[in-house]
Amino acid sequence: MTVPAVSPIPRTRPGLGVGAIAGALVEPGHRHHALRENTDGNKEGGESGRFAGSHARGRPSSPLPSIDDLLDLAASDDFHRWEAQLAATGHCAHPIRLEGRIDAIDKGTGQSAVMYDTATEPGSILRIACGNRREDVCPACSEVYKNDARQIIRSGLTGGKGMPDTVATHPAVFATLTAPGFGPVHTTRMSRARQQLPCRPRRDAHERRCPHGRDISCPRTHQPEDPRLGRPMCPDCYDYTGHVLFNALAPELWRRFTIYLPRQLARLAGITQKQFRAEARVRFVKVAEYQARGVIHYHAIIRLDGTTGDCQPPPARYTAAMLSDAIRQAAAVIRYDTAAITAADPDLGRILRFGTQIDTRVIYSGGALSAQAVANYIAKYATKTTGASGLPHRPVNGPAVIAGLHCAAHHKRLISTCWELGKHPAATALGLNRWTHMLGYRGHFLTKSRRYSVTFTALRKARTAHRRQQRHPDGEKDPWGRDLDEHTVLLMTTWRYAGTGHATTAERQLALAAAARAREHDQIAREETWLN
Ligand SMILES: [Zn+2]
Ligand SMILES: [Zn+2]
Ligand SMILES: [Zn+2]
Repeated sequence: MTVPAVSPIPRTRPGLGVGAIAGALVEPGHRHHALRENTDGNKEGGESGRFAGSHARGRPSSPLPSIDDLLDLAASDDFHRWEAQLAATGHCAHPIRLEGRIDAIDKGTGQSAVMYDTATEPGSILRIACGNRREDVCPACSEVYKNDARQIIRSGLTGGKGMPDTVATHPAVFATLTAPGFGPVHTTRMSRARQQLPCRPRRDAHERRCPHGRDISCPRTHQPEDPRLGRPMCPDCYDYTGHVLFNALAPELWRRFTIYLPRQLARLAGITQKQFRAEARVRFVKVAEYQARGVIHYHAIIRLDGTTGDCQPPPARYTAAMLSDAIRQAAAVIRYDTAAITAADPDLGRILRFGTQIDTRVIYSGGALSAQAVANYIAKYATKTTGASGLPHRPVNGPAVIAGLHCAAHHKRLISTCWELGKHPAATALGLNRWTHMLGYRGHFLTKSRRYSVTFTALRKARTAHRRQQRHPDGEKDPWGRDLDEHTVLLMTTWRYAGTGHATTAERQLALAAAARAREHDQIAREETWLN
């Protein structure tokens, strides 16, 4: 047993200070603006600003703390300790509150003594980070996740974190696999000359009408923020069942793609599959992203390795251009017949496949599409969900709850379809009632093949070890002043869950201000690192 990773070890973060308290005191209408100003010229500044703004608007139930409350908190003896705890959680927005202690028992003498007790903490509480990946749930924890994702992706392209630098010479391709169409939707289209074209212009003198009598033309040129983007021209023509089934089975399509890709490579190389397996391996990392219409598509980095375990280049016959061709061919032929699951009801029968827009781009070290750009792009999507407003964070239970959601009719209908399919006897195998809030998608948002690069767990362990080392530069001691040795001392931990979130409104406001500053600080530090 070890001392858990919850030890309240402060990270090197900027302190709160008077500026943060002043920030927390800004009136709700001004806070958004104040944070924006602080982060001028900083690419991710808008995110913290947006978060603070939507927070102020989105939670009328939690009143702002009075100035007296904030000053009381800042003046209390516990303040610096509390500030340190906050920093140790990485300024998590919804920290998990724990009570308890760690006892050490000397195995030789049977003596026991307290190693750590939350009674010594402000409010007798230890706060640990919620660890949520989603930016809209916890900006702080999502930032940690995003940084880890970036490192995982980048080390697989340029080396580092246990990967050899020579990995940069392997054939590598950035591929986007989209979903097929489920009915006409409002969209943005580009001409070959990169000029934006109207959505769905009338091509003849007569109106274009669907079987339901609706006009399915649209002469507009939609701007990127246009809420109409992705909405069906006619909801009754739109194949909601096919859409939800695609989201639900996209991971299966991807699995088939990864099985088929090596076959395609062998074919292009003019060798047998057995020969291919003897000399090369396909590794990948991918993220799932929702398109505006609420359907999943995948962005992936796909790399070729040799077959030795230490990540050596594949034989010279494999080029990035060949890998691109193989990806496009494999993605174009993959099919999944839903009858394998929904045979009991022919109405649910669909042949699922990827869309025809398969984009592949070769990643060159030092080229236009750099490893850094790709890593940033993919890491960004790893912390997002649908991006559409008003969608629930958790599964929704039944038609009454769905009707009460404040989201677009299109998304409501997707959620309803997902709910109904979950109750449909022919589709029970998909368990869709648990995934209504995901519009049917049941997979992870970031996945990778085991040998692509370092793992999230390894990065987390390294971080914990680093913080422990910072906290105990001379090694951790047991209660009797000896070097902590778990052969001689048994550590017993007792934790009790005491709630989630900040205990008071004043605490939450100060934590938000500190979190915004910490993110800004990290962003500047990261940009400086890249410039060097
Ligand atoms: Zn958090
Ligand atoms: Zn349109
Ligand atoms: Zn119609």
